[in-house]
Amino acid sequence: MALSERLARLSDSQTMAITARAAALRAEGKDVIGFGAGEPDFPTPGHIVAAAQAACADPVNHKYSPASGLPELREAVAKKTFHDSGYDVDPAQVVITNGGKGAVFGGFAAILDPGDEVLLPAPYWVTYPESIALAGGVARVVPTTAAQGFRVTPEMLDAAVTPRTRALVFVSPSNPSGAVYTPQETAAIGRWAVDRGLWVLTDEIYEHLVYGDSVFSSMPVQVPDLAERCLVVNGVAKTYAMTGWRVGWLIAPEDVAAAVGRFQSHSTSNVANVSQRAALAAVTGPLDTVVEMRLAFDRRRLTMHRMLNDIPGIESLEPEGAFYAFPSVSGLFGHEIGGHRVESASDLATALLETAGIAVVPGEAFGTPGHVRLSFALADEDLEEGLARWREAVQ
Ligand code: PMP
Repeated sequence: MALSERLARLSDSQTMAITARAAALRAEGKDVIGFGAGEPDFPTPGHIVAAAQAACADPVNHKYSPASGLPELREAVAKKTFHDSGYDVDPAQVVITNGGKGAVFGGFAAILDPGDEVLLPAPYWVTYPESIALAGGVARVVPTTAAQGFRVTPEMLDAAVTPRTRALVFVSPSNPSGAVYTPQETAAIGRWAVDRGLWVLTDEIYEHLVYGDSVFSSMPVQVPDLAERCLVVNGVAKTYAMTGWRVGWLIAPEDVAAAVGRFQSHSTSNVANVSQRAALAAVTGPLDTVVEMRLAFDRRRLTMHRMLNDIPGIESLEPEGAFYAFPSVSGLFGHEIGGHRVESASDLATALLETAGIAVVPGEAFGTPGHVRLSFALADEDLEEGLARWREAVQ
């Protein structure tokens, strides 16, 4: 088939691929424990579901609505943002999008021209390089290491910036590394971008999932001068266990927000009204579910950290946020696991899936070979059983 160049270059989401392979093995009757999925293992809270049920019955929700989102939801998101992160924005700066992904795509479409470069710290979330490329931009990857806590510094960014650089991607807490930047580090990077007149797309989707001494800080709050060139990505998926509802938002300067609204008016139109009503109940309601989830994730995080470091050849930093561990697995290269010779993280993911029945995502997907990503958003028993199986497989 003669695909367009744009789409032929697009890779499959490897996180989705591993989840699909695990599901296929399960369908064959195999007992597979999935560490792949990037979503809470909790149901959406009842009051949010009830709001959606009521919305279904109201004919007003059966019709088209504004492409930038329901006005009451845009307003509620502006309020929620000020309340949760301290960023004071006007509802006109908020565009409701099809998940956080829609915000990422809309944001890049709005600010990138062909050939514009975007600094992308690695490990990065898989959607970033693809959404930059689809908008005509060029991702310039800035690798980080475990020794650096998977954080970039202004000095590292200085070494990667060019006259074509237009924007920087900043994700804290990070998928896949679990790293959380301190407020001081966040401020230093924000100031670095302001001094160079660069845009920052900052992804705050894991804002409520931080552990131990880590604190979330919003870059445009740390550096108010950044506001005129800042795109904030967020959504209900992780905070309210609502990945399937597909509601996110972009917060941008008003003219950019309006442009993204026009883009949506021709591409997707409004996000499903029932989902928007559910999101309205979520962002105007309590945060107790995320507090409960955070407690469970924190417990699982510590168990995972301990059990991973108990496996010979594995070294894992303690995750500070989100729900991922990102251990180094290069100590296993050159070994055989269940008849599979392991020379890369991809080989290891295949060997673990086929021989131990556990699904992890290879670091190649995130621009960081030599590591794998494991989600700790799964039941405690499964987490312990899965990691015990891994340990057994490498004995
Ligand atoms: N940003 C990051 C860093 C993510 O990990 C995800 C989900 N994997 C998203 C954005 C998007 O989430 P959604 O489109 O489901 O709202």
